Amino acid sequence: MKKKILIIGGGLGGLFTGAILAKEGYTVTVLEKNPIIGGGLQTFKYHGEVFETGMHVLGGFQKGGALYKICNYLDILKQLDIRTEDSNSFASITYLSDHKTYCMGSGKKHFINNLALEFPEEKENLSIYVNELYNLANEVDLFYLRKGNDHLFSHSERFFWATDELIAYYIKDTRLRDLLAFMNPMYGGVAHHTPAYIHALINVLYIESSSRFNGGSQQLADALEDIIRSKGGEVLANKTVVEIKIEERLVQCVKTADSCEYNADHYISAIHPCSLLKIVDKKAFPKSYYERLNEIPNTYSAFTVYIIFKKRCFPFINHTCYLQQDYGQVWTHGDYEGSDWPRGFMFFTPAKKRQDNFADKMIINSIMSFSRVKKWENTTVGRRGSDYEIWKQQQIEKVLDRMTDIYPNFRKYIDVSFASSPLTIRDYYNVKDGSLYGFRKDCQNMALSQVPIYTKVRNLLLTGQNINLHGICGVPLTAINTTEALLGENVVINKINSANEI
Ligand SMILES: Cc1cc2nc3c(=O)[nH]c(=O)nc-3n(C[C@H](O)[C@H](O)[C@H](O)COP(=O)(O)OP(=O)(O)OC[C@H]3O[C@@H](n4cnc5c(N)ncnc54)[C@H](O)[C@@H]3O)c2cc1C
Repeated sequence: MKKKILIIGGGLGGLFTGAILAKEGYTVTVLEKNPIIGGGLQTFKYHGEVFETGMHVLGGFQKGGALYKICNYLDILKQLDIRTEDSNSFASITYLSDHKTYCMGSGKKHFINNLALEFPEEKENLSIYVNELYNLANEVDLFYLRKGNDHLFSHSERFFWATDELIAYYIKDTRLRDLLAFMNPMYGGVAHHTPAYIHALINVLYIESSSRFNGGSQQLADALEDIIRSKGGEVLANKTVVEIKIEERLVQCVKTADSCEYNADHYISAIHPCSLLKIVDKKAFPKSYYERLNEIPNTYSAFTVYIIFKKRCFPFINHTCYLQQDYGQVWTHGDYEGSDWPRGFMFFTPAKKRQDNFADKMIINSIMSFSRVKKWENTTVGRRGSDYEIWKQQQIEKVLDRMTDIYPNFRKYIDVSFASSPLTIRDYYNVKDGSLYGFRKDCQNMALSQVPIYTKVRNLLLTGQNINLHGICGVPLTAINTTEALLGENVVINKINSANEI
């Protein structure tokens, strides 16, 4: 008899974990609360256009990259339509204060040289700084799919420095310091708190190769679902888990909102751990576990503007664009509530299949604190009231005002615009305060933000973005950790590496 696995949450973490376990001989059932699976991979259609909800910018899909290797082992590469972003500018950062745009080159040398053209006096410092990022990333065996046993105490001191302090240690020019933190919105960075290793891993990931899906991120969710189904498992949408019954430190079954019961040999929670705590038996964990998890701060949220352009008006941009009003603000976007919000955001033109030179749409993600929507926190989707709709429209206009600072005729190109807020993210993903990336890692208290995949409940494991690292690289790597808890240390790593030797 194949062993049965029940996974709660059909996002990137649940689906990768399920696909690996299905491939390795388990019968997997994934329960997803939303009508469409995928979580951060889910896409939706509006006025005929496909929009991604979360996963936009990809890293690690170049030949030899971690994601390439994992997807090759799962044999799903052929199902994925991925485009590499411009190598001369995988990201551009525009500062409105001096109307300067900087382009980030792909690859270590290119990255350094592009910036050294703008900051020639910092060329040597830049080189040392970028090498340090690679050294820090190299401390994480899993990032390179090497066998290993990462442990907090096996890392260098700088691994746990605060990111802003690491940058300032190597770089003198304050504008360059600011610029080098441009990927802050990709990890929810907070000055003096975000550990340098998070910054290093995300930077190295995208410096090495930055890409995106042609046609939207749902294709990855679908490919992972296909593996689970082809091995006899199932991925069920519209299945909200409302109760996890635990007796004597063993999960007995999970119950869904439609009154179904599921049981398995092992259970894996791929949802936010604080959401998990709300549905487990109160006696399942010690009080200290509840307190600790509820104490961990979460990363900030976002207000997203979606735009459909009039036909053949706006150019397709094959890289991610970042906008900053001024230097010195990148570390405070998360708690900024002033009237000139947004002081910065990222925007991009999602690619369709057979993309031509014109963009059909744009997504603009502006960091926003949950406190901005707190007055509507007791409302649900579609029933938040007219004052909320008015407020949302006002925020859209503010974002569009900023866009016209770069593209003066921007409003003329727009056919349709609409938006989502931190409340959308909270309700759609079931995450506290609409946090973008879940638990915030904090170098001031590393032990607090470290959540192990094991729990006191013997047949319940954790996976997903709150454990280790978020995003397209962090979540699949954690899925390897979680599956190896069942399959044995380095078993999956070995299989991935063997599959890629052939
Ligand atoms: C707006 C936004 C933009 C982002 N952009 C990028 C990007 O460009 N690049 C990148 O690498 N990362 C990006 N991320 C982060 C990335 O999307 C996440 O790190 C990743 O998708 C998290 O995967 P996960 O499986 O841990 O969680 P999720 O994708 O949130 O999956 C959890 C799933 O569990 C379901 N669920 C919750 N509660 C229950 C329940 N009780 N019963 C059943 N199901 C339940 C949820 O509906 C959800 O589908 C972005 C995130 C957001 C929100």
